[in-house]
Amino acid sequence: MKYFSPPSTRRNGLKPPALYEYFIDNFWFKSAGLEHERINEPLRGDHKADIVIIGGGYTGLSAAYNIRQKFPDKKIMLLEGACCGYGASGRNGGFCIATSLLDSNFKDPESRKRNLDVSLYGIKQIKACIADHGLDCDFEENGMLDVAMNADQVKVMEADYHFLKDWGLDVEILQGKALEKEIKSPRYTAGLITSLGATLNPAKLARGMKNIVEEMGVEIWEQSVVTRVVPGRVHHVDTELGAVKAPDLVLATNAYSHKIGFFVNRTFPLYTYVVATEPLSSSQWEAIGWQNRRGLSDYRMLFNYMIPSADGRIIIGGSDSKYYHNDEIAPGNNKSVSQDIVKDLTDTFPALVGIKIEHAWGGPTAGSRDFTPSVGVMGDHGNIYYGVGYNEGVPSTQTGGRIIADLMAGEKNEFTTHYIVNRNIPYAGPQIMRSFFGALKKMYMVNIVKASGNF
Ligand SMILES: Cc1cc2nc3c(=O)[nH]c(=O)nc-3n(C[C@H](O)[C@H](O)[C@H](O)COP(=O)(O)OP(=O)(O)OC[C@H]3O[C@@H](n4cnc5c(N)ncnc54)[C@H](O)[C@@H]3O)c2cc1C
Repeated sequence: MKYFSPPSTRRNGLKPPALYEYFIDNFWFKSAGLEHERINEPLRGDHKADIVIIGGGYTGLSAAYNIRQKFPDKKIMLLEGACCGYGASGRNGGFCIATSLLDSNFKDPESRKRNLDVSLYGIKQIKACIADHGLDCDFEENGMLDVAMNADQVKVMEADYHFLKDWGLDVEILQGKALEKEIKSPRYTAGLITSLGATLNPAKLARGMKNIVEEMGVEIWEQSVVTRVVPGRVHHVDTELGAVKAPDLVLATNAYSHKIGFFVNRTFPLYTYVVATEPLSSSQWEAIGWQNRRGLSDYRMLFNYMIPSADGRIIIGGSDSKYYHNDEIAPGNNKSVSQDIVKDLTDTFPALVGIKIEHAWGGPTAGSRDFTPSVGVMGDHGNIYYGVGYNEGVPSTQTGGRIIADLMAGEKNEFTTHYIVNRNIPYAGPQIMRSFFGALKKMYMVNIVKASGNF
């Protein structure tokens, strides 16, 4: 079967895949109160279900949320190796870009509108969870501010402006005093405001969705690492202590998928890192002038992105991404990348020199040769649904879950015909190439920024 190569039988059933690190200093886990929360019991014994979902990040939770609504009577079991939100979903930068699933091939207004609805769906679903289920994830829909640091980046920004304007979106380019009203940094020369887009606390989103999905009747088993999948008309899914047989399987393991034999040499874990400052004083906030609290990112290739947290910190990520030999799921912390991020923060905002960094962490996203997700259905019996290849994915994984449910229901609509559906994931090249991925991107970034004298 394409995209599946069972790991060596010597390991299967004996030793669980190496998935998790010993320690991760994640501010979001702390602020979501995860250390005091009850983690669900592991799966024990033999079970049967209609649908088994592997992975309790946004993809798995959104798939569960949407499938439950379409199939209220089916028995759905979700298996999560650690706890829901333990992967990238509970660790990310909290940035919700609304327009990431726009397809520039659409030219006529009607198909553009349908495609825009798909792209905006992720944020819409999060808002529905807030409105209908009281989800609390510090959601702030203030729009986005993209900033350029040199003339080349301004050109790219102008192209973005025209692209988004063409789609009828509310965008504006700011410079000089107008830009200073949004943000004050000697490095920024222009800013692009998009009224769409939001920021949030990612771990609260994941944990909140877990509760919602459970209340809807989905069984969630945490601490249940899947050790082996034997695909078939009825899939056999083994965990360390239990097993599930189910005719439909949803694979929602993104960067971890290769560890159980899926998407090997197609997607690979690429690590990205984030830091959280101490809460800023009111004079520090005033000095940087970030009063509209829009998600802020710059135009470098390996850009930095930052959001203000609900308790007044800056959460900033970017600078570099790391590939670890042999597609390893590796450390959740990286001192040298964290130090680069902090240096970049204080270069950007000199008023913050000396600010204390209280947390630094990272996590795996799924790299691929073209950095585009694929959501679809595969297998000899057409019963393995999946959503993988997410690099940026806070809202788009929500959409991915909806696509999976629609595919399962056999629907043909703007979701199931979107360009990411059943998109071919190209061969990722030999491992040595993957290890250059981060480095190549970084070199590219340094060249752009050097040209501006800003680095
Ligand atoms: C540091 C960082 C910053 C980021 N910043 C942003 C951002 O600001 N905006 C944005 O849009 N995106 C961002 N992303 C990307 C985004 O977080 C991901 O694209 C998204 O969360 C992927 O969700 P997922 O559910 O597909 O995967 P994950 O959240 O990784 O979930 C996969 C789950 O599967 C479980 N699992 C894996 N293998 C097994 C197994 N064998 N058995 C049982 N369970 C298993 C894991 O424990 C995990 O919980 C960032 C990612 C990182 C790491």
